[in-house]
Amino acid sequence: MFDAAQGIVRAERVAAALLEVSERLSTLTEPDDVPQTLVAAIRSATGASLAGVARWSAEGQHVWFAAFEGLTPDEQDALLALEPGPELGIVQGGLEGRSAVFVPPFDPDDIPVAFAEALRITAIAGAPIVVGERVWGFLVVATRDGDPSLVENGAELLRGFATITATAVGRTEAIGELERSHEALEAAVAERTFELTQVVEELSRANRAKAEFLASVSHELRTPLTSILGFIELIGETEMDEEQRSYLEVVERNANRLLSLVSDLLLVAEADDGRLRLDRRDLDLATLVRDSVESARAAAERKEITLTSSAEPAPLLGDPLRLAQVLDNLISNAIKYTPDRGRVVVTAWTHDDRAWVEVTDSGIGIPVADRQQIFERFYRVRGKNAASGAGLGLAITKTIVDAHGGTISLESELGAGTSFRVSLPLQELEAVAPGILGVEAASTR
Ligand code: ADP
Repeated sequence: MFDAAQGIVRAERVAAALLEVSERLSTLTEPDDVPQTLVAAIRSATGASLAGVARWSAEGQHVWFAAFEGLTPDEQDALLALEPGPELGIVQGGLEGRSAVFVPPFDPDDIPVAFAEALRITAIAGAPIVVGERVWGFLVVATRDGDPSLVENGAELLRGFATITATAVGRTEAIGELERSHEALEAAVAERTFELTQVVEELSRANRAKAEFLASVSHELRTPLTSILGFIELIGETEMDEEQRSYLEVVERNANRLLSLVSDLLLVAEADDGRLRLDRRDLDLATLVRDSVESARAAAERKEITLTSSAEPAPLLGDPLRLAQVLDNLISNAIKYTPDRGRVVVTAWTHDDRAWVEVTDSGIGIPVADRQQIFERFYRVRGKNAASGAGLGLAITKTIVDAHGGTISLESELGAGTSFRVSLPLQELEAVAPGILGVEAASTR
């Protein structure tokens, strides 16, 4: 009766101890913290004088004690010096997954007898801690005179602890693994970011060098070209026959084309370099439209193209030369890509705080496949209708429009015509200097 009552009390204590160990182990994140947490709990749960956690070194094929309690410093040294291997029954049994209890008289094949006797051990129990498929270590408990007996349920008790421990170790190892892979990932990301930064720097250096080269070449070309055009003008004032004059006109036209190409290249270089500066002034879009339409009139007439325009006044703060370039490009393209006797209409209006300009032609149209890239530099539609040009006009047009905070879009129908539409932010009326735009502009808002 008394024994049974004691048994229940112990079982209860063991269950409580298992629970406590389980809880304490569950907070650990480092496998190396497991042994010390275990030994104290095992000792108090079993009532044994000595408890230890040994680790199994698969490489060295021996056991070493990672934590123990209940030994004097000398005894600890003796234990550390042991490092038993599978030649001992207690180790071999553990490696095979068995827990066991040994009592005197000890067999030297099973345990280090001299050590056990020196400590006056009355029973020694061991259980392997198996994590996954591998023996991680052993729980070892030893009693001395006066300790509760391990014989009855010592092995079973240790098995319970070993199972909990294995779970905890598995968990901490998984956490470690996760942290390591996380760190490896972070390192890889950092390295990749560094490499990319280098590449980006390299590219932007190359880009700057290219822009500088373009800028200086364009600049160097512009000076002699301007001089050539000056002399062409002078020669034009001299006496010459019709044939000579027509040759001179070809020279002049080509020199002008070259000059405008060089100017376009210079603008591209400036935009690349972030140096595209706008000389912003108060201006009226309607005036710009009228001027551009008038300067395109001769070209339209040469192809008998009807060129008409209607423009509402629209106050803008923009670079007049650059915006004129936008209109000139769109109108001259419309004329260039419209067959003789076609029609080009330029319309400008204001709506929703924006000024809008549309250049519509009855020309050849732009194939759907080309519309995406049409604003890219040097992009030209291939085909039988290709006219002469460098493919820079629309790229520059878009660059200028973007720099003004505007948008450009197009609609086109192959064989029927194309419509380019530009929107630009309207100038706030109160910011417009009085007298420049006049009352007409104000009345449009
Ligand atoms: P370029 O006219 O010098 O070739 P752009 O950049 O001005 O260069 O135009 C790019 C291409 O877009 C042109 O080659 C042409 O094929 C097409 N394109 C431009 N405007 C029109 C238009 N109004 N109608 C048809 N095609 C056009």
